[in-house]
Amino acid sequence: MSLLAGHRLDGTSLNATSRRDWLRAVCAAAAGSSISQLHAAEPATGPDAQRAFGYLEAICKLGPRISGTEPMALQQQLVGKHFTALGARVSLQEFDTPHPVHGTPVRIRNMIVEWHPETTTRVLLSCHYDTRPRPDEELLPSQRNGVFIGANDGGSGVATLMEIGHAIPTLPMSVGVDFIFFDAEELIYQKPGKFFIGSEYFARQYRDQPPAYRYQAGVLLDMVADLRPQFYFEGNSLRLAPDVTRSVWAAAKAEGVKEFFPKVKHTVIDDHLALNQVARIPTCDVIDFDYPHWHKRNDLPAACSGETMAKVARVMLRWLRNL
Ligand SMILES: [Zn+2]
Repeated sequence: MSLLAGHRLDGTSLNATSRRDWLRAVCAAAAGSSISQLHAAEPATGPDAQRAFGYLEAICKLGPRISGTEPMALQQQLVGKHFTALGARVSLQEFDTPHPVHGTPVRIRNMIVEWHPETTTRVLLSCHYDTRPRPDEELLPSQRNGVFIGANDGGSGVATLMEIGHAIPTLPMSVGVDFIFFDAEELIYQKPGKFFIGSEYFARQYRDQPPAYRYQAGVLLDMVADLRPQFYFEGNSLRLAPDVTRSVWAAAKAEGVKEFFPKVKHTVIDDHLALNQVARIPTCDVIDFDYPHWHKRNDLPAACSGETMAKVARVMLRWLRNL
């Protein structure tokens, strides 16, 4: 697939067909046995809040994951290994962009994680995995050159998708799903800067070199770990992808997750705009824009909640099952 030109991180993954064969064999073996044995073949638990939080901590321990830096490369290894071990196909979509300060090329890498790649009806779940270079929303100018870790803004989407990945191989669903990790969402040292370099490249590639499949819908996760989460309809999502947006909030209701409110509060510009307007993939943004530490030094794991990420994971798994 031309869209996925890039190198495999690991060639040892179990492919989707053999995973299903294995699952079928497990079910066939259980067919004549007791109910308890049948249940033993199913996933025992849903998303695990502690495990999700552990992923968030591991990502943040790498330091700021600014596009083109060593910690970003380490994150790519960590995330790639995680999904390969779970049976997904992992590739990188790579290109260069001029560094916004000194103009030398920065290698940008969107990561693409494919589940059931043979299925031609597909959806995508996405997030950005780079972090903003500086905490430039700090009130005091002297603090705006500090370290920005980006636990919620940059880390939480990754950790939540890592947690969701555990459930995908055995999830009953009729579509294939790709997880897309956008690089260079905010490679911005000085405002105003260029946002969404990775997602815009991905969307143009999808439009200009169409793959053999189509994405039917997409969801973007951004800042999904607040201790006191509030997920409202996002204005651009409701305008550009009303059906997808409503279906996600319906999944939250069905799942009993009360932190999803079906009314608009914020309208934001985010990676989902390129997906909607360039790639024409109806995509909604699940974003909690009432996070007090947005672009500040205290966007740290201590300001985040594994329970919130597990709730978002449950909503997304319900949404995938319902498709
Ligand atoms: Zn940000």
